[in-house]
Amino acid sequence: MTRPDPLSRYRAKRDFARTAEPPGEVPNGAAPRPATGRGGRFVVQKHAASRLHFDLRLELDGVLKSWAVTRGPSLDPAEKRLAVEVEDHPLDYRGFEGVIEAGYGAGTVMVWDEGRWEPAPEVADPAAALAAGNLKFSLHGARLRGAWDLVRMKPRPRERQPQWLLIKRRDAEARPGEGGRLVEEALTSVATGRSMEEIAGGQPAAKRRAAAKRQAAPPRRSEPEPAPPAPARRSAGPAAPRLTHPEKPLWPAEGISKRDLADYYAAAAPRLLPQIAGRPLSLVRTPDGIEGKRFFQRHPMPGLPAAIRRLEVPGEARPCLGVDSAEGLLALAQMGVTEIHPWGALAADIEHPDRLVFDLDPDEGLPFDRVVEAAQALRERLQGQGLAPFCKTTGGKGLHVVVPLRPQAGWAAVRDFCQGLCEALEAEAPGRFTTRAEREARAGRIYLDYLRNDRSASAVAAWSPRARPGATLAMPLAWREVTPRLDPQAFTLAAATARLRRRDPWTGFAAAARPLPAPPRG
Ligand code: ATP
Ligand code: MN
Repeated sequence: MTRPDPLSRYRAKRDFARTAEPPGEVPNGAAPRPATGRGGRFVVQKHAASRLHFDLRLELDGVLKSWAVTRGPSLDPAEKRLAVEVEDHPLDYRGFEGVIEAGYGAGTVMVWDEGRWEPAPEVADPAAALAAGNLKFSLHGARLRGAWDLVRMKPRPRERQPQWLLIKRRDAEARPGEGGRLVEEALTSVATGRSMEEIAGGQPAAKRRAAAKRQAAPPRRSEPEPAPPAPARRSAGPAAPRLTHPEKPLWPAEGISKRDLADYYAAAAPRLLPQIAGRPLSLVRTPDGIEGKRFFQRHPMPGLPAAIRRLEVPGEARPCLGVDSAEGLLALAQMGVTEIHPWGALAADIEHPDRLVFDLDPDEGLPFDRVVEAAQALRERLQGQGLAPFCKTTGGKGLHVVVPLRPQAGWAAVRDFCQGLCEALEAEAPGRFTTRAEREARAGRIYLDYLRNDRSASAVAAWSPRARPGATLAMPLAWREVTPRLDPQAFTLAAATARLRRRDPWTGFAAAARPLPAPPRG
């Protein structure tokens, strides 16, 4: 069976004898690729062509479904954005960042966001949903997260491309009243950390402005901007921070160097950044390796690389540290940051936690099975409250159960809720759990520290390495992996790369956020 060539429109517009653009991966109109109905990669490319716009591309059935979003995505559900459908693009457009020198679509292209997308649970067939003109989906990018809708508008006369609306759904990732803010503030590439100017490189700014002025017509009634040509070079630009002493061993016993750490951060960026972006961070630095001196850093010091953000946090006397780009992660490697600990709230909304962390700390010598049991018991209780718990290893001796929350309740209510829940577990199985920190109380038990969920308390980020022997890391798990066979020590930096190629067990994390329930009784 063959299906119609999905790239025929793309090809018809281009003369491949004269352009460097790729003809695409599907040869001769045949379609050997299997359908990828459960989502895939997405990219948003910021394209300073005759008119600045943002190209949203979703991988589906072997091509990139593409829309030109004229004003860029809005995080305000009330601010819908026009998304003009453009022709399917080949998959290898996804990594393109650079300058289209001349001709159709000339201008600078930035990888503004990337990650994975998935259809909403109720969408059985995303291709059919698109054909029907309404796709509900979620994004797991560095910047765009949570649930979205693409809704096709009724066709108008003389309209050449179908016009859609891109709408943020109401969830923890929505920012009512701040629709345009992300597009205004997120000005660097998530792939290389570069600004548009830095990507444009040698091209004089005046010329670009003149080119931009020439056409001011919105693509609404005319041809939307074509997509950029060949993914010639996705270069780490000269503006990217440099790694000095790349051979320096950071985990000497494991033979893991600073360069290895930088490579790991780059590979893990699409999954790590959504866990830390926008949050104040506590960083563990071990510049001389994990056997040398270590310190926690929470505030900027002189000489802090620009890729590390300074976050103003209400109530904090000094700015806090933030990382929201691949370049920022590279700067962390350069600083010898071997652990990343985000707070449980976004800097922009610090009084409303958007995740809970239950820190299960087993007494020394307690078999790991007992931690697994505890995590599952906690999961059941949280699910009984209508919440969606996720589990991760810590890279240490326990587990963390993490619950995405809609940021509505304040810290005091969240603390009360956690205390109630931990005390209920303790009352149910006093031989297994304790909420008391004293050594004697903890003997043979799992310590449930409900005070973890406090305004300035952090928890190690999912995908963060640990400055511990074995180069273990905090690995997100699927609940079916949380069994007596689980070996947290198996999740090491070296093993993580293979896991990054597999489906993310925390897919749907942001979209699973629910409001804090009323405190449990008991
Ligand atoms: P383990 O599974 O070995 O307990 P863990 O990451 O849960 O690993 P804990 O000692 O239980 O380690 O601490 C829980 C969280 O508290 C950590 O993830 C970290 O974010 C934070 N934390 C611990 N010690 C400090 C510290 N000295 N300064 C700041 N934050 C800390
Ligand atoms: Mn712990």
